[in-house]
Amino acid sequence: MPERVFNFSAGPAVMPLPVLEEAQRDLVALPGVGSSVMELSHRGKTYMDIHADAKARLVSLLNIPDTHEVLLLQGGSRLQFSMIPLNLLKGTDKTADYVLTGSWGKKALEEAVKEGKTNVAWDGKSINFNNLPSQSDLKLTSDAAYVHITSNETIQGVQFQSIPEVGNVPLVADLSSDFLSRPVDVSKYGIIYACAQKNAGPAGVTVVIIRKDLMEHASGDLPGYMVYRNHAENDSMWNTPPTFGIYLLGLVCKWLQEEFGSLEKLQAHNQAKAQLLYDAIDQSGGFYLGHAVPEVRSKMNVTFKLGDDDSDKKFLAAANELGLTQLGGHRSVGGVRASIYNAMPVEGVEKLRDFMLDFKK
Ligand code: PMP
Repeated sequence: MPERVFNFSAGPAVMPLPVLEEAQRDLVALPGVGSSVMELSHRGKTYMDIHADAKARLVSLLNIPDTHEVLLLQGGSRLQFSMIPLNLLKGTDKTADYVLTGSWGKKALEEAVKEGKTNVAWDGKSINFNNLPSQSDLKLTSDAAYVHITSNETIQGVQFQSIPEVGNVPLVADLSSDFLSRPVDVSKYGIIYACAQKNAGPAGVTVVIIRKDLMEHASGDLPGYMVYRNHAENDSMWNTPPTFGIYLLGLVCKWLQEEFGSLEKLQAHNQAKAQLLYDAIDQSGGFYLGHAVPEVRSKMNVTFKLGDDDSDKKFLAAANELGLTQLGGHRSVGGVRASIYNAMPVEGVEKLRDFMLDFKK
């Protein structure tokens, strides 16, 4: 096997090696089945068991209560930017509140405005999205259709440390880049959604966890795929689900359970990993400039710059030489971004930290 590097991509991102190895071993023929997962009907028992197992592991890891349904969909998180307002806003006279904490929150709003009335409850643009709102900063609409937040802004590297208080209004949260990285109290959310390709598997699967009563409103006139109810009533098999991706999602959840046991333990592990890099930034005497203010720093995407673009480029090229890859910041902001999702081993983070210290010298 060719040697693996430490890959800091923001997504699609590094997968746990044991998951890749198990998938590789069983790729051509699942034991006792004689066919690849890819070759199985989604209506057959083997696949149905894999599907149920992946869902059950999500329910167990996240303690998902009976009030909520788990949907395994396609279309990525950006389809959710549309499905949410289509199901919860369109055809009502309500307003949806959007909290703009970075690039992804803005893009979510851009889709919602096509479907109904929206309100920007807070916008971090004037501070270059380096901080998050406090509760009193939020201009919430009473009786809104929902409040949308982005739990972790993948591009800017800011992450909510606690969730805003929204009363009886459903809280809708994009957890694309911090899903399964820390515990969440699902009962506090109307909808949680996350594309898989950062923390949960390959691109092609999107997990939606939705409070059941929120599926009732959508009009049957919408394209069938857009209606959450259709997926819920058919156990996410309204159409052919992304079977191979769901199989890998199940393997990732199994790995998390076996390796860490609980999301509480994983959270502590992720915090310690992130701290290694933030310490290197803070102790660099201004050589490395962190983007986010310390209180809201992301444990998943560590974003920083050197003094100028040229130094950033030199840093990235030298890191790449050492097998520390895909560290470039998003094309819209530049700089450096180390994405250190669950599957990034602590050795990778230590190697990057050591490189940061050496490069500074
Ligand atoms: N939201 C967040 C927070 C993201 O990081 C991303 C992907 N980088 C998206 C939404 C969009 O996801 P997708 O490309 O799967 O539509």
